[in-house]
Amino acid sequence: MYGMTCPHCGAATGYSPVGTRKYVEIPRGNPVLAQRATGSIHDEGSGYFFGLGRCQACAKAFPVRGKASSTESPDETVQEGTLEPLWPTRYRVVAQEIPNSVRTAFEDASAALGAGSVLGAILATRTAVIRAQRQQKQALNLSEASLKALVEAGRVSRSTFEASEVARRVANYLGHEEPDPDDQYSKEDAEELYEFVEALLHELYVQPARIRHHRNRLARRVETADPNTS
Ligand SMILES: [Zn+2]
Repeated sequence: MYGMTCPHCGAATGYSPVGTRKYVEIPRGNPVLAQRATGSIHDEGSGYFFGLGRCQACAKAFPVRGKASSTESPDETVQEGTLEPLWPTRYRVVAQEIPNSVRTAFEDASAALGAGSVLGAILATRTAVIRAQRQQKQALNLSEASLKALVEAGRVSRSTFEASEVARRVANYLGHEEPDPDDQYSKEDAEELYEFVEALLHELYVQPARIRHHRNRLARRVETADPNTS
């Protein structure tokens, strides 16, 4: 039943309802009683059920809508792939391999994009680039904190350098000058800039960490392998 991204932490989660569906009786004067459902409720008009779900990873709650096979017990009969948080969702899950200071800025960019904030996303994307430059300067003892220094040190490819440089310059322009109202940046533009910087962070942090991980696994396997069969 996985297929929903938690808007708080970005983990994949199924529907774990907060509270259970039950009918409460409301006295309307003797002998009339009305019934009202609590918990997740089904809306015949739209065909959706609406409920409050709790993330199975971070345990925070958020409103959810989805489709269910049985309108009487939607919590148990959720149809796979129909779940959707009714909450601004992050654009992408940010990789855990990225160092904390860089990751928090890029998570903000992802949250801004998910909420449709174009300028917010572009400026937070730029902050992630600047923090990555600083972090790498320190880690590699570079002469300066810049993308150019990273390409010269062989840390990023020329095309990754050019793409993230575009993202940085667009953010500088939008952040420091009075942008031309006829030259508005769209959500698609902001997504493209986000992807440029995502590729940069992948090259700087994610790929090396995954290669290290696989090398270690290989080394362990070689150590434990039977010398007669290897
Ligand atoms: Zn979560």
